[in-house]
Amino acid sequence: MARNHRFDVLFEPVRIGPVTAPNRFYQVPHASGMTNALPHVRARFRAVKAEGGWGVVCTGAVSMHPSSDDSPLPFAMLWDDRDVRAHALMTEAVHEHGALAGVELWHGGACTLNRTSRIAPLSPSGMPWLSTHLGFMGNLRPRRMDAADIRDLRNWQAAGARRAMQAGFDIVYVYAGMGYLPYEFLLPEYNQRTDGYGGRIENRVRLVRELLEVTRDAVGERCAVALRISLEELRAKPGRNAPSEAHEVIALLSQATDLFDVKMDSSPTDCAPSRFSPEGSHEPVIDFVKKVTAKPVVGVGRFTSPDIMVSQVKRGILDLIGGARPSIADPYLPKKIDEGREHEIRECIGCNICISSWHDGVPVRCTQNPTAGEEWRRDWHPEVFVPATNAVPVLVVGGGPAGLDCAVTLARRGYPVTVAEAAGEFGGRLRFERRLPGLAAWGRVVDWRMGQLEGRANVNLYPGSELAVDDILGLEHRHVVIATGARWTRMLYSTLEFPVGWLEGPGVYTPDDIAAGIVPPGPVVVFDFDNYYLAGALAEQLARQAGEVSYVTTAGNASAWTFMTNELPLVHRALSKAGVPIHTLQRVSGFDGESVTVCDVYSGAEKRIACRSLVIVGMRVPKDDLYQALIARSVDLERAGIASVTRIGDCLAPGAIVHAVHSGHRFARELEASLSDAPYRRDFPV
Ligand code: ADP
Ligand code: SF4
Repeated sequence: MARNHRFDVLFEPVRIGPVTAPNRFYQVPHASGMTNALPHVRARFRAVKAEGGWGVVCTGAVSMHPSSDDSPLPFAMLWDDRDVRAHALMTEAVHEHGALAGVELWHGGACTLNRTSRIAPLSPSGMPWLSTHLGFMGNLRPRRMDAADIRDLRNWQAAGARRAMQAGFDIVYVYAGMGYLPYEFLLPEYNQRTDGYGGRIENRVRLVRELLEVTRDAVGERCAVALRISLEELRAKPGRNAPSEAHEVIALLSQATDLFDVKMDSSPTDCAPSRFSPEGSHEPVIDFVKKVTAKPVVGVGRFTSPDIMVSQVKRGILDLIGGARPSIADPYLPKKIDEGREHEIRECIGCNICISSWHDGVPVRCTQNPTAGEEWRRDWHPEVFVPATNAVPVLVVGGGPAGLDCAVTLARRGYPVTVAEAAGEFGGRLRFERRLPGLAAWGRVVDWRMGQLEGRANVNLYPGSELAVDDILGLEHRHVVIATGARWTRMLYSTLEFPVGWLEGPGVYTPDDIAAGIVPPGPVVVFDFDNYYLAGALAEQLARQAGEVSYVTTAGNASAWTFMTNELPLVHRALSKAGVPIHTLQRVSGFDGESVTVCDVYSGAEKRIACRSLVIVGMRVPKDDLYQALIARSVDLERAGIASVTRIGDCLAPGAIVHAVHSGHRFARELEASLSDAPYRRDFPV
């Protein structure tokens, strides 16, 4: 298919100092959890994006010195010449596809607690960064940098730039964002210096300018120099000679850089979850940059719609369309637009599971793209599938995220696939969950897979078909996959912090009841020890439908696990806006139809909350009755010609959607395949 001419502007080359990006698709630096210890995993992960058409592909943060040590979070490094080869693997792989490679040289300053190097963290004035935030909490305060420290920093940046050039990078960054050291110099709250680096804005930008200059001196005309900068706080500060300090900083640094990579200041606003922010949410902060500088500008905003990308360029907001999450969810996004297949883009859903992988300290995972991080170690290419050697028919029972991804992948391998779904509509848990406040974009998990399945000659879709054991034995399939999901229980939570006992009786509900259409009479208490998004979203929804709602959790915060996905502060704000009081560190111990009894998880002190309904969002168990009944019929299975019966997704182990999709995908990739390195190939440092 041919490209729609509407999108031609996205495929124009853009000059960045001495180098030229082949198009406007720019994978900005983003965390991948792949350190120098996983060089092949990292190289293939980045290379697949270049292959998919991204004109520039960058690393994540690359530490320039042991005083920027983010452990236990994963980070890459260019500390000395021994680190060069690991990065060269990536630049070579990216160059093979005609893209430029960028490196984000990074010093974390007071944000890094140097837990491994045990070097006192560096900062402009000895101020800790967000000292009550879990990630930055520590007992060691940063120290104030003196003139010699500033000289050292310039030397580390210059040495990092030289090594980056040796490694083959085309764009070398100075990173003044997100609380990291050069950014700390820009903000008067953190920079209280009285020397030439503190005070008025011209002094506060001095360090960043010097870092840009030493980078330029180090790379000469071989590489472009880029500045990545956070502008949220600066935009909120009135300038002396311009509308804001952000305007002043861009003007003051314009000559020193070849490219501005502009972003927000904190993870929840920069990598904003779709529950609370739309596509293009950075625009109100960064829309002025191109008016102040003639240098090219790249920015992000979870851009997945080519029309919105074109509008960003045509309205003079951005020159290059930055992508981090959209490039993870679909490494082939540019190519699909180029080939007139934009409807096939696997759009990022904005769930931020990818961010949670970094917080977990592991290679990136993605809800939409199960191949992310698996390109090298499992040899999973997002667009290439090993054809079935023996295309026998496969029956998938259950059309939720696991069943649907399994079916798409089997179909792409050439298997004849039948998907039977009990409900009248496909989608599993997402049939209901996508209708909860803020979760509409999550429905893309279902929509993309249905788009892939519908109309395929080797796929039969049967909605409204609840299958029992005898139905399955009567159908002629070689392999049967059971993807029947999980159910929520009415289990409570013990003082020993595990689910125990049951609370049955009128007025006690689970999310399955709400999904089935029950609106519990208010006032309602939502009791959460699942800790992810569902209880928070349900409380918000019920506050609209049932009126008075209280939220009770055993954890210290509402939807406590969502600190991993940047959603936590926004969940608190949403519940407060919906008028839902939050009771933390409380477990429910009883309910008599008029009030629930809750007790403090530490002291045991009891209190009562008046309510007519209790919704327990706690423990899930697999819905595996069908699976168990099938495997008990081994003789009949053999007679029916069924070679295997396999559970996948929540039916195997209840989890988040990301787990279900990966589980379905893995089954489909590995069916009748011979694996040389099970369960996956191990990477080693070079
Ligand atoms: P997962 O996340 O593992 O995909 P879900 O709970 O989202 O799990 O989806 C499971 C799907 O399986 C649901 O849509 C449910 O209606 C369907 N299902 C459950 N039992 C049967 C059955 N016996 N026959 C067909 N479909 C079923
Ligand atoms: Fe997007 Fe979620 Fe994938 Fe991250 S994990 S890239 S937010 S779909």
